[in-house]
Amino acid sequence: AQPAINFVVSDYAEKSLPVETSGDVPAYSDYATYRSHGGYALAAALVNGEEEAENVIKAMEDSGLRGLGGAGFPAGRKWRIVRAQPAPRVMAVNIDEGEPGTFKDRTYLERDPHRFLEGLLVAAQVVGVEACYIYLRDEYHDCRAVLQKELARLQADPPCELPLIELRRGAGAYICGEESAMIESIEGKRGEPRMRPPYIAEVGLFGRPTLEHNFETLYWVRDIVEKGPQWFAGFGRNGRKGLRSFSVSGRVKQPGVKLAPAGITVQELIDEYCGGMAEGHKLYAYLPGGASGGILPASMNNIPLDFDTLQPHGCFIGSAAVMVLGEKDRARDAALNIMRFFEHESCGQCTPCRVGTAKAAKLMQAPAWDAQTLEDLAQVMGDASICGLGQAAPNPIRSIQKYFAAEVGEPQYLGTLPLPGESVGTEH
Ligand code: SF4
Repeated sequence: AQPAINFVVSDYAEKSLPVETSGDVPAYSDYATYRSHGGYALAAALVNGEEEAENVIKAMEDSGLRGLGGAGFPAGRKWRIVRAQPAPRVMAVNIDEGEPGTFKDRTYLERDPHRFLEGLLVAAQVVGVEACYIYLRDEYHDCRAVLQKELARLQADPPCELPLIELRRGAGAYICGEESAMIESIEGKRGEPRMRPPYIAEVGLFGRPTLEHNFETLYWVRDIVEKGPQWFAGFGRNGRKGLRSFSVSGRVKQPGVKLAPAGITVQELIDEYCGGMAEGHKLYAYLPGGASGGILPASMNNIPLDFDTLQPHGCFIGSAAVMVLGEKDRARDAALNIMRFFEHESCGQCTPCRVGTAKAAKLMQAPAWDAQTLEDLAQVMGDASICGLGQAAPNPIRSIQKYFAAEVGEPQYLGTLPLPGESVGTEH
């Protein structure tokens, strides 16, 4: 039988709250409380032995944990690859959380910061990194206050030998969520993605082999190692394995971060975790993976939400930000809004993305779309952009052409978003 998910953030944090508050963040578990519940015992027990490092990497591999920032690269395999690189090695942690609709990292960070920090320490010891750089979204100022305070407490009374840990502030650029752009930014340069190869596992931050992780990936390390890989892999639905933290927003009764089995469908997520659709709304469409992951119609509400399951439909789960649209919404409005966002956030380094997003945003305002020109543009952007922003930017165009063609071909479906420069209403 599948184990029950009997916790919201983590079983430990839920039991031990409230402890302390800071600014507008909720009560969170501070250093003393975390340690009094067995926290950092795992990090303290690791003494850089070959065998124990191998055991931890094996547990990570067996758990099936994948990068939860969006790319989904298997975490254990990444540890093994970077560990095999020559020292000195470094780590870069991404808490930029700029994907529209995504707010899971913040939710966990402001409640249980040490679970993440212990995961960071375990990864640092097992992979053998000498310095960790935490890149935090600057808009998360209350999270920054929590992290600063708790890092100072950890450093004042370390449970084990600590690597250098530096907290770096982002500056509001979506592109700095892309790992190589984040590394450029940490190095003090303009945040522009690098061409690959070389991959950052070999030549990354300050030219050194770099272990890069999203916040949430590290957040699960302690539980996986302590409870065993089968604990994590034992969750799952519709043939998928593991847990996913869905950031659900839009026309549902109870939006929020929903920790649910990987492979759950959007209908199950809405019905079982969100209290159903909001009053007066019926499911019309949904975005399974934030701005970049495409748009699907209500008729496709039975697709397992996980890495790899959405690709055949031109979509992907990314960081698991699920945005739900009702029948009073138009998918084309969402697509246009997304394209304007990409136009604004394109770093401008390569022409297909810089010019393509601007051109697409203009073309998408026409009542009836020029389908062939938009498809030509989508093809060039997907094929010739340097990074994922430009490569994924055509997803909303293709979703609309494939699943919502009626909205962009007939006059009664005119877009309802204002043109750039006009004020946006509050209904959405
Ligand atoms: Fe910059 Fe866009 Fe090119 Fe990425 S695809 S490097 S965001 S211009």
